[in-house]
Amino acid sequence: MAQIIDGKAVSEQLKAEIGAAVLKLKEETGVQAGLAVILVGEDPASQVYVKNKGISCKQCNINSIEHRLPADAKQEDLMALIDKLNNDPAIHGILCQLPLPKHLDENQVLLAIDPAKDVDGFHPMNVGKFMTLKKFSDMADAGVFLPCTPYGCIELLQRSGVKLDGANAVVIGRSNIVGKPVAMMLMSLNCTVTICHSRTKNLADVVRAADIVVAAIGSPEFVKGDWIGKGATVIDVGVNRISDPAAKSGTRLVGDVEYAAASENAAFITPVPGGVGPMTIAMLMKNTLMSAQRAAKK
Ligand code: NAP
Repeated sequence: MAQIIDGKAVSEQLKAEIGAAVLKLKEETGVQAGLAVILVGEDPASQVYVKNKGISCKQCNINSIEHRLPADAKQEDLMALIDKLNNDPAIHGILCQLPLPKHLDENQVLLAIDPAKDVDGFHPMNVGKFMTLKKFSDMADAGVFLPCTPYGCIELLQRSGVKLDGANAVVIGRSNIVGKPVAMMLMSLNCTVTICHSRTKNLADVVRAADIVVAAIGSPEFVKGDWIGKGATVIDVGVNRISDPAAKSGTRLVGDVEYAAASENAAFITPVPGGVGPMTIAMLMKNTLMSAQRAAKK
């Protein structure tokens, strides 16, 4: 049976380390790490995410400053707020919770965030800088921010002691927020990477040859247990809600991989929930700490 990679436990450990580093930075340099979170409108899921980010900031001793704008906020008001935060030395990270109400231009907003405070790692400047890095470990010195969910996948692999150097990694999914960046990160850590998508032929055979499988599809239990090679590592990014009459709520969450069957073949596997999910916010905290450390060096 596979060893479970417990993302909840890893994220708690990581947040404790970040919390200590934030205090140390303040003691040594006077710089107090600060994260600004912008929420436009009343989207219930976004409100939960923003609340959870605030809780994590507290755990990590990071100042969390929430800016709430009404659902009918004008583009120029949002741009003015971002400009103010870009120029505020107490703010080291700026995050605009997506999706934005339909009348607002998301792309313009993401481009307006100073790349040096883009702790989500979505600004093209950060994407481009990362693409040109030779080694993953050069990232901190190069002033790059990595997007949080794929970065969390890498943190889980590294902390679980999974051998990356020379490993065959198969990434299923090529989105800009998960598939593509996680593939680039694995390559920069010396994996040989195959990126699969909806047009890939013989997907099961490609997956069977993998030492590491990262599934980021958004389709419940799409990857079958018998696709997973003996001793492989499975990182399941998918979060899918399916109906389950036996559950109190009538639904439950599953990943993109058939967890029980895959666990019989894999050496390591992430559960859903409790695998990659909790790592995303933890990596946001790590990026905010990194940004504050960079600011302190200036
Ligand atoms: P996405 O933008 O919809 O991308 C899905 C990818 O899966 C696409 O590249 C698509 O291929 C590929 N795909 C779809 N059907 C396929 C098939 N039959 N065979 C092979 N590949 C197939 O999704 P995403 O934003 O990357 O998210 C993926 C999953 O991760 C979702 O369940 C999402 O909820 C979850 N997620 C979790 C976190 C977290 O835990 N914090 C964060 C982000 C996302 P094409 O490009 O050819 O269409």
